[in-house]
Amino acid sequence: MIENKKILILGMARSGVSVAKLLAEYNNNILITDMKEQESTVLKELHNLNIEVVIKENQEELLDESYDLVVKNPAIRKDNLAVLKAKSLNIPIINEVEVAYKFLPSDVTIIGITGSNGKTTTTTITYELLKTTGRNVFLGGNIGIPLSSIVKEIKSGDLLVLEISDHQLCDMYDFKTNISAITNLSEVHLDFHGSYEEYKRMKKRIFNHHALHDIAILNKENVDVLKLTQDISSKKIYFSIKEKTDVYLDHNRIFYFGEEILNIEDIKIKGNHNYENIMVAITIAKQYGVTNEKIKEFLSEFNGVEHRIEFVRTVRNRKFYNDSKATNNESTIIALDSFKEKTILIMGGLDRNIPFDSIASHLQNVSGIMAYGETKEKIKDFAIQNHIPIIITDTLEEATLMAYQQSEEGDVILLSPACASWDQFESFEVRGNTFKKIVNHLE
Ligand code: ADP
Repeated sequence: MIENKKILILGMARSGVSVAKLLAEYNNNILITDMKEQESTVLKELHNLNIEVVIKENQEELLDESYDLVVKNPAIRKDNLAVLKAKSLNIPIINEVEVAYKFLPSDVTIIGITGSNGKTTTTTITYELLKTTGRNVFLGGNIGIPLSSIVKEIKSGDLLVLEISDHQLCDMYDFKTNISAITNLSEVHLDFHGSYEEYKRMKKRIFNHHALHDIAILNKENVDVLKLTQDISSKKIYFSIKEKTDVYLDHNRIFYFGEEILNIEDIKIKGNHNYENIMVAITIAKQYGVTNEKIKEFLSEFNGVEHRIEFVRTVRNRKFYNDSKATNNESTIIALDSFKEKTILIMGGLDRNIPFDSIASHLQNVSGIMAYGETKEKIKDFAIQNHIPIIITDTLEEATLMAYQQSEEGDVILLSPACASWDQFESFEVRGNTFKKIVNHLE
């Protein structure tokens, strides 16, 4: 509980506004600030709660020793001037999840899922599987639902599944889970953290305060995960797609401590990366008595999280997949490796001057590329170099129609752009929704 304090909230966004509203209920004196203009409805709502809003740059000027606490948006860097000033004034800096955590009843079971990739997918599957137990289960965190927006609905004995990012872990200290999972670790967000070592050090906080009765679910194939967790106190459960361990994949079947759970033929989403995510979710589900029937029932229907190799529709025996979240080469490679079928790839988007070369060795099933957007000429060069037929168009719609026209029965048509969406779309979500609309209108 945080009451009667003077608090500066740095960064509005969804989580800043949500945590301001929570703190305002407990007689805290709150100033919330952002550099960007905000919607008038939000400003009015905050004003009505006696929350002061200041839109300005140089936010360090707002801060003095009279403040008890700074709540920082996870995207704000540690070298931000306001953050540095708070540090020099010895004012504690925490984030929205850490604040909301202090408002939870003490006997809520918390499951925290982190990792460089697969967080949202794993968190979503875990949540859906746990719901089949009939218990009250809540979903929140980095997945787009601030914990502070749901914390008051959560009661003793409930289950809470949280997606936690490395950015969030930077400002979390007391937060403790009962079960934590790391899907994998790779060198991402190095510009934010300064080094891979620092990034891993932050990730390790997902096991903070763990004792032997708390569980850590760990990827046995990831050397960095193994090294990082050598000295944690949790009970460790390992998963692997390659070797027999606690939870593993063997001859297309997933086993949990020797018990066969299901065959991957019964799983709608594809790709080894997804089987890893599923093994994590199964491991958590098994702790709470989810039956194998329920696991199978859910996974045989689950189309994937929106915009992540999401199955859209079959049209004349061609399967369309929306992987709009693939904004870099690595994600497109994962998508390409997930299909055995002949694939027509739709690529393109914002030009960040990053070569597409790393995709070259994953084109074995690609029979054609349809390129659009700012990067289309670069994709054309890439396709020609790799002897892949290429058609360039101006828009995603033209590229999709062209892909359909060029396709044959049994093909996969995959939007996995390997580029950010911002040359033509507001976000990867808008791009994915546009694609789905086009596909849903095909005859
Ligand atoms: P995150 O929330 O960590 O960004 P998502 O579940 O949203 O992860 O998946 C985003 C993309 O990351 C997917 O489209 C896929 O390309 C890749 N991905 C998902 N799961 C994994 C995994 N276990 N290992 C490696 N890559 C993955």
